[in-house]
Amino acid sequence: MRHIAVIGSGPAGFYTAEAALKTFGSEVRVDLIDRLPVPYGLIRSGVAPDHQSIKAVTRRYEGTASGEQVRFFGNVTVGQDVTVAELRGFYDAVVTCTGAPADKRLGIPGDDLPGVIGSAAFVGWYNGHPDFAGLHPPLDGETVAVIGNGNVALDVARILAKTPDEFAGSDIVAHALEALRLSRVRHILVCGRRGPHQIAMTPKELGELGHLTRAAPLVDPAAFPPAADDEALDPGQRKSVTLLRGFATAGASDKPVAIDFRFFSSPVAILGTDRVEGIRLEHTALGADGRAHGDGHTADIPCTMVVSCIGYRSITIEGLPYDDKSGHFANEDGRIGGIGSGLYCAGWARRGPTGTIGTNRPDGFQIVEEMAKDLPDAQGKAGGEGLARLLAERSVSAVSFDDWRRIEDAEQGRARDGSPREKFVDLAEMIAAIRPA
Ligand code: NAP
Repeated sequence: MRHIAVIGSGPAGFYTAEAALKTFGSEVRVDLIDRLPVPYGLIRSGVAPDHQSIKAVTRRYEGTASGEQVRFFGNVTVGQDVTVAELRGFYDAVVTCTGAPADKRLGIPGDDLPGVIGSAAFVGWYNGHPDFAGLHPPLDGETVAVIGNGNVALDVARILAKTPDEFAGSDIVAHALEALRLSRVRHILVCGRRGPHQIAMTPKELGELGHLTRAAPLVDPAAFPPAADDEALDPGQRKSVTLLRGFATAGASDKPVAIDFRFFSSPVAILGTDRVEGIRLEHTALGADGRAHGDGHTADIPCTMVVSCIGYRSITIEGLPYDDKSGHFANEDGRIGGIGSGLYCAGWARRGPTGTIGTNRPDGFQIVEEMAKDLPDAQGKAGGEGLARLLAERSVSAVSFDDWRRIEDAEQGRARDGSPREKFVDLAEMIAAIRPA
């Protein structure tokens, strides 16, 4: 029997497990280890709560976890409860699929002021991630600056703009829904350091901004290159740019909330003494290298919160080499430490935060293909039995997939009307749902 440990139970972890089952058939056992008592990683804590159709992919993951061959070890932190070296002793292969859960820093003066929040924290807050449930983002001012021109910036702007009614059917957590109900934010600046042709926003997500109850996008027509230049864009990007041009043509709306796109605007300082009071944006132009270059002209805009949506980094794990420059685990084609080490990584932990959820599927399959070549024979290791014994010795209370189902039942049972679930946002609450005191 071949034993594989997968660290992280998000999309990359589940696709790696699925690939292992398809490749090795009945001759494999896969254990998914997660530091949280709940599975699904980015699907639960990253995908926007009003995008339930994307979250529905967890049904596929449930299918993967349903048989005897896949086991969930939730509430177990690798590097703390068990080391990578110990996992290598128990398993033929260890695949790190821990994603990229830490925010990249802006790296400008004032970026540590209260009120500067990274998107991992802000998204984690409205999605009920236990690490960020106590965030209390300051929604008491009129203007918020959202930095970045990717889909995460769009998610953040949309969530800030929606009315409580527009969250019907979503699983936004109660604390966020209430804070957003009381929010005084009316002006959401979306700052891109480059132009409309360089956005990383997809048409479906951008299009949603045109259908909000009390908010409308605001785009300066002067930001665009000549329309003929759109022909050179790939079809998806052209669609997004066409949507932006439509927003620009529509002009200012009489809706009370504006999602105000500022292109060629690079943040150079966050202003304030005890908290965020404003942001300094420098005007930029595209250089021949395709990058944004500041032209020295700056504008100070008062705002009370800055959400930076500029990308993520993986979090290090003791015993695994890390590429600090790229912000993910050091690897070659997903192998960590070369052939024979038995160490691999997949998903964002391998390549950084790019692509859609589905991009992680081929990633998982490719890793398992390499694994089959590197390790043609099972090595008679102890697998999950060995890990379970070690965790019991250390009094680590691991959460099984059946336990998770009970947490899920409890979350569904306490959902508000029309919502699929009300998540527990506290580790102790999750554990109490399966092991009442
Ligand atoms: P992203 O797509 O890489 O976008 C990051 C943005 O931040 C870019 O516009 C980038 O500008 C900007 N940026 C980076 N450093 C900056 C700096 N120092 N100052 C100002 N701007 C800076 O990343 P993301 O939005 O975090 O999304 C991550 C991945 O998840 C993407 O693949 C995304 O498509 C995916 N996602 C998908 C969905 C969905 O499908 N619904 C939702 C959320 C996320 P430059 O281009 O100039 O570098």
